[in-house]
Amino acid sequence: MKFENLNVIEPILKALSDEGYEAPSPIQEQSIPSVLKGRDLLGCAQTGTGKTAAFAVPIIQKIYTQKNKGSKRQIQSLILTPTRELAVQIEDSFRAYGKYTGLKYLSIFGGVSQNPQTDALRRGVDVLIATPGRLMDLINQRQVNLQNVKIFVLDEADRMLDMGFIHDVKKIISYIPQERQTLFFSATMPKEISDLVNSILSDPVKVAV
Ligand code: AMP
Repeated sequence: MKFENLNVIEPILKALSDEGYEAPSPIQEQSIPSVLKGRDLLGCAQTGTGKTAAFAVPIIQKIYTQKNKGSKRQIQSLILTPTRELAVQIEDSFRAYGKYTGLKYLSIFGGVSQNPQTDALRRGVDVLIATPGRLMDLINQRQVNLQNVKIFVLDEADRMLDMGFIHDVKKIISYIPQERQTLFFSATMPKEISDLVNSILSDPVKVAV
């Protein structure tokens, strides 16, 4: 199997080849075609399986191919992840896979000054990667508008629960349009997480690795 066989477009194929990726990992092979088709996804996968490219590659491709070239940049995809380290890693992956597409990526997280983050938001972002606390703060200050989000990713949902973020996560979801594509990743499925799955996913493709 090759990335070409998953209908990945040339600018992304070239970037993946620059990264030294020769073939999709199992989770990428199972996820990329379904996400490109617009399906919701429920992934049971740990970090280290190639999970990031499984969602980043089709998100970049969908935004790039649907982009209305003249219009102002708006946040079209939101990735929620529990920690600063993960947010930065995911941002770096989007930058690497999307480097030939001209899209803009930004990660925001707590523990650092807000100003560089709000300045970057004002300059325009296509894909926002965020931890829940800082995102809630910036939403409350009207610095972030989620009304144009078309693809939402909830990463490491079980860790969000363990770290006490689940209330913020539910609040943030209430600000995203209901008509959207949702990709949900969790290594384990405690009851509170499966309840959330049932309330926010619609007929998801299930992928386990
Ligand atoms: P992740 O689970 O997304 O954190 O990825 C784990 C590691 O695998 C990262 O260092 C990626 O750069 C690498 N990786 C992801 N997909 C592939 C692939 N298809 N081929 C080779 N390496 C990959």
